[in-house]
This record gives sequence, C-alpha cells and structure tokens, in this order.
Amino acid sequence: MRGAGPAVAALLARLGIRTVSGLLRHYPRDWEDRSRHVPLKDWNSSPVCTEVTVLAHDWFGFGRTKTLKIYVEDETARACLVCFNRPFLQRQLPPGARCRLYGQFYYKFGDIQSTAFDIEPIARPSGGDNPGSTAGRILPLYPLTEGLTQNALRKLTRLALDKAIPSIKNELPDNIITRDALLHKADAIRAIHFPTTLEELANAKRTLIYEELFYLEIIIGKRAGRRRGMGNREWGVGNRGGEGNREWGVGNRGRSSNSPHSPLPTPHSLQHRLLERLPFALTPGQAAAVEEINADMDSPYPMARLIQGDVGSGKTLVSFLAALKAVQGGGQAALLAPTELLARQHAENAAALLEPLGIRIAFLTGNLKSSGRAQLLKALAAGEIDIAAGTHALFSQDVAYRNLRLVIVDEQHRFGVLQRQAIMEKGATPDLIMMSATPIPRSLALTVFGDLDVSEIRDLPPGRKTVKTHLKMQSNAKEVYDFVRRELAAGHQAYFVYPLIDGESEANLAGLNLKDAVSMSERLAREVFPGFPLALLHSKVDDDEKRRIMDAFRRGEVKILAATSVVEVGVDVPNATCMVVEHAERFGLSALHQLRGRVGRGQAQSYCFLVYADKLTDDGKTRLKVMLENSDGFVIAEEDLKLRGPGQIAGIEQSGYLKLGLSDPVRDAGELARARADAFALLEADPELQRAENLRVAEVMSRATPFGVELSSF
Ligand code: ADP
Ligand code: MG
Repeated sequence: MRGAGPAVAALLARLGIRTVSGLLRHYPRDWEDRSRHVPLKDWNSSPVCTEVTVLAHDWFGFGRTKTLKIYVEDETARACLVCFNRPFLQRQLPPGARCRLYGQFYYKFGDIQSTAFDIEPIARPSGGDNPGSTAGRILPLYPLTEGLTQNALRKLTRLALDKAIPSIKNELPDNIITRDALLHKADAIRAIHFPTTLEELANAKRTLIYEELFYLEIIIGKRAGRRRGMGNREWGVGNRGGEGNREWGVGNRGRSSNSPHSPLPTPHSLQHRLLERLPFALTPGQAAAVEEINADMDSPYPMARLIQGDVGSGKTLVSFLAALKAVQGGGQAALLAPTELLARQHAENAAALLEPLGIRIAFLTGNLKSSGRAQLLKALAAGEIDIAAGTHALFSQDVAYRNLRLVIVDEQHRFGVLQRQAIMEKGATPDLIMMSATPIPRSLALTVFGDLDVSEIRDLPPGRKTVKTHLKMQSNAKEVYDFVRRELAAGHQAYFVYPLIDGESEANLAGLNLKDAVSMSERLAREVFPGFPLALLHSKVDDDEKRRIMDAFRRGEVKILAATSVVEVGVDVPNATCMVVEHAERFGLSALHQLRGRVGRGQAQSYCFLVYADKLTDDGKTRLKVMLENSDGFVIAEEDLKLRGPGQIAGIEQSGYLKLGLSDPVRDAGELARARADAFALLEADPELQRAENLRVAEVMSRATPFGVELSSF
C-alpha cells in the first residue's frame, strides 16, 4: 500500500497489522468530536474545540530543553499552549494568526494551559477546502505504538479505505441487516473510522458489534452441533469385554441411553461404594453435578461439561466420582492439573479415597525418573492403570492410553486450547470435564464456553465458617502478627503471602520497596515467630524441595508457610486458619479470592488479613473493599469484570473463539442473546449451511480456523 514502506510496515506489525484489512480492523479506541464548539472558558467540562487568535510567543528553559509557549485567545478566555518538541509552531503560528484549536486543558500558574493539543491555521478563503483539516470532524483515536502518530495512522487508514471499500461485501445475512436497520459493511467500516455524525458512528458500532457476536455464536453453535452430531460413537465392545469383571456392562449402557436421566449411583457401583466410605454426604450442588455427569456419560454423545464451583466447594470429589464411572465402564481417566503441587495432591487424595476400592492410580509429571516413567507408561498403555493424575506430562508424545474415556481438566483456565486438544486426542472422543474455581458469571460463560454444558456448585460443605476478613494498614502489621501468634499457639497454621520472591527484583530496583518472601521469611522466623517452624515456598524452589515443604506443612510439622502466590491454586490444608497477604493491593481480585480460599477448609474459624500499603490507589481500595464485603466467588467475579473488563478475565484469551474487536459480551449482553438466537435458529434450520440464503455465512465460516474466524474477506 502506498504510504506503508518497510519502516511504517514494521511499526504497524507491532500493532498486529499486516494487511489492508488488518488496518481497517484496527478500530479506534475512541473518537474526538470536533464537530461541537467548546470555548476555552469551558475547558474544565470537556476538551476545548474552538477558533483562536495567536497573541504572543514566549520561551522557557535553555538549550535543548528550550520550549515554546504560545498565548492564544478566543471570544471567552485566554490560554497558554506549551509546545514541547514543537518549536516549528513558531513559524506556522505567528502572532495575529487565526487557528483551529482542539485540546485538553488544565489550570496551572494562573493560566489555562495545555500540552496535549492540536492546532492548525485556518485556511484563507482563497485557499479552498483543506483536505487534511480536522475542522468540524469526528476524529478517530487509535491504539498507537511508539513512532506512529494519530495523524499518520489516520492518513494510512484513509488510503486503506479508498483501496478496500469497493471490495468490502456484507457478511451478515441480508434479512438481519434489513430487520435491524444495520449499515452495509462497507459503510460501517468507513463510518467506524471517519463518521460524519455521532448517529452514524452509533449505527456503525451497532452493525459491527452485531456481526462479531453473530459469528461468535455461529462458531459456538457449530461446535456444539459437531459434538452432539458425533452421535452414537462406537464404544468398541471389545474394549469393554476385556474388563468383563466390571459389573457395569454393555447392557447397562444400552439401557441408559434410552433413559438419559440416570439417577444417582446404582447400588454396588464404584460410585456408590465411594459414597458409602465417605464420612460426609455430598452437598446438594455436588449431587446435582454428579447426576448431570452421569446422565452425560450415559448418553451417546461425548460429554463436554464445565464444573464451576467456588474454592472449597468440593469439585475434586465430583471429578473422582466421574472417574469411577469411567473406570466402571472399562475405561481410563486422566486428571490434568496445572502445577506439580496440585497434581500430586490430587494423586494422593485419589490414592487415599480410591485405592481401597481397587482402583489403580498413577502420578505422572515431567520430571519423573526415566526408569519409573517407562514402567508407568507401559502400565498405562496396557490398561493396568485406571486413573492417571498429572501435569501436562499426561499428554506428551510418548504417553499412550489403552482406553482413555474421561479427561478431567482442573483449573481449566490455566490451559490453552491446544493443550486441551492434545490430551483429548489420546482417546477416541473421550468425555471431558473442565473444572474452574475462578467462576465466570453466566453472561460470560455463555460466550466463552458457549458450547459446553455447565454445572454450578453454589453451596459449600456444611459446617464451613465464612473466613473473617480484615483490612490492615502496613503500619499496623504488628497487630496481625500478634493475632497470628495466638492462632499458632492454639495449634493452627498460617500462610504469609508476598508479591515478590526476593528484594532484588525489578519492581524493587525501580524503587517500589515491597516486602518479599525471602527476606520476610527470615524476619518472621527470627524476630516475629521464633519457635514456630517456618518454610519458604516460591516458584524458584525446585520441585522435590517444594514437595517436601508441602508434605511437612500438610503434616503440621511446618507451621508457617511464607510464600508467593504459588499457594494460590488448589492447596488444601484444613488446619491452616490464617492467610496473611502483604501488599494485598498488588494482587488482583481473583488471586485474592483464591488465596483466601486456602483457609476456611476445616472446622475452625479462619481469618484472612489483607495488609495494604499506607498509600492506596482508587483501584486498590475498591478491590480490597470488594474482598471485605463479599465471600461468594461468583459475586467477586462479577465485580472483577466491572473493574477490569471481560478481556482481562482469566481464560478468555485462551478460549479459542474469535478475538472480539468492538463487542463486549457483558456490555452488549442484550445483543449477544439476540445474536445467539439468530445464529442457533439459522443452524437449526440449515446445519450444514447449504441453503442459498446461507451461502454468505458458509463462505465466512470457510475461513474459520481452530482459533476463530477473520471477519473480512477484503
Ligand atoms: P475445590 O472445589 O476448591 O477444588 P476441594 O475439592 O479441594 O475443593 O474440596 C475442599 C475440601 O472439602 C476437601 O478437603 C474435601 O475433602 C472437602 N469436601 C468435599 N466435599 C465435601 C462434602 N460434601 N462435605 C464435607 N467436606 C467435603
Ligand atoms: Mg480444586
């Protein structure tokens, strides 16, 4: 494209722009309305947009830092323009010149001042129209990268529009465009960049947002359809036959696919036997989830179910029950966890609960000694292992399963689509359970996991006391330490969490002066809690050492764990009653919620102390307040969403759907629901997109990749 030589192309590439259409899909992050007159005296209410006369020039500073100041006035006030790096304005704007001015102003040293402004001389009447003029326009503001200015990007975008407009075709079905009075795509693309009125801008947004959401839902609908459409997958009877000793035979399967709502576990089943051995009953939420899973596993379609439950709601047990059902049917189950620590904990729990039932458990991680590993792999391939718990090592190249029937992904948001794909390929369309302790509000779950079935466990096991949360200023940390000392003396255990591993980190070198796990662990051990065994845990501690520390903590030999947020996920030590997070203001809401979830897991009352720096940002303050006032993870997730916007929510980037440009599934929830209805109705009537009126949709979908679909053919 003219105007985009190698240097500019390299800058654009930094923004992810490589094609003309990429340039046109680099949507403005905002628009400046220069069509409305805002005189200087109103500088405080919105950006000024007015005509001014240059009064005088002045300079301040010396040598290379010498800076031009231009005094201007309009009919309402005088103002001062501080022209950093723009000495050339001296020539362009001599005293007496009439100019158009647009900018943000502030009040300083008795002047209305601006450093961020656009100014241009008003063309003389004879000069005719000035095509580059920004007067009276609504101008796009783009996300930029260093070396690229708004003006340069605007020029390039205009060129791209001229080039591409003739070949931009509608991608939404005509009947929807007509029904909702949307713009044609070419008009929408032009207007999103250079709208002539605010109303046109609104229509352009409406059109492009709907298009995104519609195709998002088409993708989701197609995936869901494909999964269901796999239909009667063949349950190799031979596989099952080899495991004839299992009581849940082929006949059973046949029967239950007629009645998909299989009730709770049948007597004598493995599930039933586990439930009998447990010292407690399932919570209603757990029971409902198990029931849904059982029905899914009995149905002829592969299961794909997301189990959403707050920290401590007992998802692990639910997944064990699912694994038992897979084993009962002669299959194997794989339980995938994001960290070695968590994978080991699962393996140990599984061993304790399931081995007495004759289930054979294996634990597989990346750094298993090679001889042991070879043996394990052989056993897995031979079907001598029923349940394998592990990290991503579960799906490395050399791992083969005899009959992998169920894949359980714990803390699913920590895995990418490709990793989930890799493990699914180890079996012949295995059932899939994903578990998430970072609950996603329903509105969002619909988009991110739109092709999954969702079970929500909204209750906690009985007898759990809500963790008491206290906010403490750093200068009062001693009160916290005194409190924790009493808990320790009563035999309980405590976590201390810090934002940094050691004091030499970049953040501290940059002058932030944060407490860190390494030096605090020494201080806590020596000065604060002498006599209570303490251990240090962070990501640089090697895995064997980590395991020893966690074992000692679980057995109660270590009383205090000084750590970074490595303890965030999944760690389950019921005797720990204190969670102290120092510099809590530096942690996100979901991390704080996870951390707090490490305590309150036993019968005793637990406490969470959020110790914050004496200076707090507004955002930090809001987050801590949310933590103080809420304990329900779903509510906290909603708050997180409000604070951060959905793009930031864990797991969305990896969800593998199209990258949303303008739309926001939360803000645009109404449009989303309509788009979903439209898309699903269309797919229902024409699943293969073969009808003439759906050729356009088929054509767009033919460009789909596992990562979504590019919404533009130009
Ligand atoms: P999460 O959902 O956060 O993964 P876990 O599966 O780690 O929760 O369970 C938390 C704790 O609750 C475990 O110690 C587990 O044994 C216990 N637990 C699970 N279900 C029940 C129940 N129905 N009644 C009592 N305790 C339970
Ligand atoms: Mg868990």
